[in-house]
Formats: sequence, C-alpha cells, structure tokens
Amino acid sequence: MDYREGTAPHPATPSEQVRKSPQPSPDGRGDIAPTPARHYHPPMASTEIEALVQQLARLPGLGPRSARRAVLHLMKKRESAFVPLLAALQTVSERLVTCTICGNVDTHDPCAICADPRRDARSLCVVEEVSDLWALDKSRLFPGKYHVLGGRLSALEGIRPQDLAIDALVARVAAGGIDEVVLAMNATLEGQTTAHYLAERLEGYPVRLTQLAHGLPVGGELDYLDEGTLAQALRARRPVG
Ligand SMILES: [Zn+2]
Repeated sequence: MDYREGTAPHPATPSEQVRKSPQPSPDGRGDIAPTPARHYHPPMASTEIEALVQQLARLPGLGPRSARRAVLHLMKKRESAFVPLLAALQTVSERLVTCTICGNVDTHDPCAICADPRRDARSLCVVEEVSDLWALDKSRLFPGKYHVLGGRLSALEGIRPQDLAIDALVARVAAGGIDEVVLAMNATLEGQTTAHYLAERLEGYPVRLTQLAHGLPVGGELDYLDEGTLAQALRARRPVG
C-alpha cells in the first residue's frame, strides 16, 4: 500500500500535475487553463438556444437530455426539419379551437371527426379527455363520433356534473339519430362513477349503452394503453348495467 494514501501533503492528483506541467506561454496565460476544469462548466450554447432547450424540456415525455438531442437535430436539419416544424407550430397555435359539437381540439370547428360524413353518426363514444379520444381514434376501430366530457366526476377534486360537458351529451342524445353510446371512461374509480352517472342520465332515451370491456388494467388510463389492449377493449365492449 502507498504510505501516502489519504494523507498526501500535496493535494494535486497526478492528472493535475500533468496539466500544470507545460511551460507558460510568454503572455503568462499558459496553453492550458490553470484552474481545474471540473469546477467550471462553460455554457455549451447561447442563451437563446439554451432557452429553446429549456422550453422543450418542459414538454411531457421530454427531459433535458432528449430536449438537447431534439435541438441538435433541428439545428442540423434546419431546412428539412426546423423550418417545417416552426411553420406547423405557428399554424396550429394560431388556429387552435375547441369543437363546439364534441369538445375535441382541432384547427377547425366542427373538428375533422365531426365534419367527416363517412363516420357513423349513430355511434357515439364518450370519453373523459381529448387525449382519450386521440388514443381511441388511433386504433381506427371505432367508426363513429365522439363526445369529450372534459374530465370525470370527482368528489375529492370537487368536480360536479355541471363542470363537465354532460348536459351537452344529453342534448346530443335527445336530438336523436344515435343508436349506441359507448361509455369509454377510464378504468378508475372516478371513471366508473362517471359512467354510472351518465348511464342514469341517459336512461329513458332509445339508445344502447355499452362500455369498454374490463380487460383494461385497473387504474389504467386509456392514453397510456398500447393499441392492442385498447382495440381489444373496444371490440369486447358490453352493455352497461
Ligand atoms: Zn368535433
């Protein structure tokens, strides 16, 4: 064992000794920074680029590391990626609207789903959030239209029926032309409470009420399910009650 271990009178590590060894240049600055580099982190990019990284890092699913990678990619592919992305962000941010029929967000009102004549207007799928609508519609298994509640009933959070688009849903059903209402709530306690409440509110209307099969994981949120599970749950939907 090295007898100096842990009690070395000189704090310099071998690497620091190497770093200090070059002769200083005539201006006295030396070729290599005389201060230990490990305590000083020079900025890698300008504050503008750093601000861009920070904005991206705040997005869901991204962190500082992926944000930095994304920014590096955008800078490298300025014409083919950065410019088109900027144009898309600008367009969507300027035109973003909530569909007055279903509550989806889109760049048109009515949204692309409500305005699509090929969709089956006799089937209506009720979801909690826009993210659930998107997740379900990505499976391409539901040919009908949607209704977004804007949340779920929650005694804990004080979310009451009048806080959700429930009256609007009842009005759509009351207007007629709908045969089936799929209650596609999340498989959480609050989601199921909401489904029961909706079933009560829609009682007496000539519609078939169904809900997603409970192959859904308990506590599972639609947005996080893989498409296969979601497709299966939709296919095996069953009557409410
Ligand atoms: Zn719509």
